Amino acid sequence: METEQKAPETVETKSAAEEIAAEAPKSSAEITGKKFSNYNFKSDLGRQVASGEIKDIDEIISKNLKVLEPQIIDALLPNLQIDFLFIGQSKGKLGGGKRRIIRNTQKVTAKAKRQHFSAMAVVGDCDGHIGIGKGSALESVTAKEKAVKKAKLSLIKIKRGCGSWECACGAHHSIPFKVNGKSGSVIVTLMPAPKGIGFCVADDIKTILRLAGIKDVWSRVEGQTSTRINLGYATFEALKKLASYRLLSSERKSLGIVG
Ligand SMILES: [Zn+2]
Repeated sequence: METEQKAPETVETKSAAEEIAAEAPKSSAEITGKKFSNYNFKSDLGRQVASGEIKDIDEIISKNLKVLEPQIIDALLPNLQIDFLFIGQSKGKLGGGKRRIIRNTQKVTAKAKRQHFSAMAVVGDCDGHIGIGKGSALESVTAKEKAVKKAKLSLIKIKRGCGSWECACGAHHSIPFKVNGKSGSVIVTLMPAPKGIGFCVADDIKTILRLAGIKDVWSRVEGQTSTRINLGYATFEALKKLASYRLLSSERKSLGIVG
């Protein structure tokens, strides 16, 4: 008989103290994707993954198959890393204005004041696969879980390369060409940079690029950048253009493109 053992949800339930610890930039990067085991898939695609018929995430992406269960991503990319963008800000005299990964909004109704929490997760394997998602809930842990789930379901595969004319090394440490993305008033432009430059970008963009597996990039940000949610989405929109662009094989060679 088969056991109905569900894989635990992607983010562990944490005590308040642990959660605060997890908000430190260093430790939040260390949260890795849950190991997938004995999950009972409900979708056809999930069953194909469980049976070993589909072994490669790129097969799913290239065929444009709809992923309904985040556990499919866990199964195919066991080394997926999770991080959160700093979309919130703490209030109060002590430590007020400090960036937090949880965004806290209050809704005042006639009956009560209700707290609402949002989080924005980034998932990636540092090797070309990247996803982003925002979750909102009445509890911060649930908001984080929802964000991670959405990020996994939004996973794309990007093209990397070396489009820097100063470098032209033919490796895939940067991006092959200039791209931009827009969300709300924010426009993020990413440009190829030579090897060793690193990221000349805002911290939240850095998180996304690192998990996507891009090492060197120049960027320009326009608009209301204090809206971190738009900054995250605009960066992802720019990366999506690296996913969808069709290339000639000669371009692939000269720009050292993988993906
Ligand atoms: Zn290069």
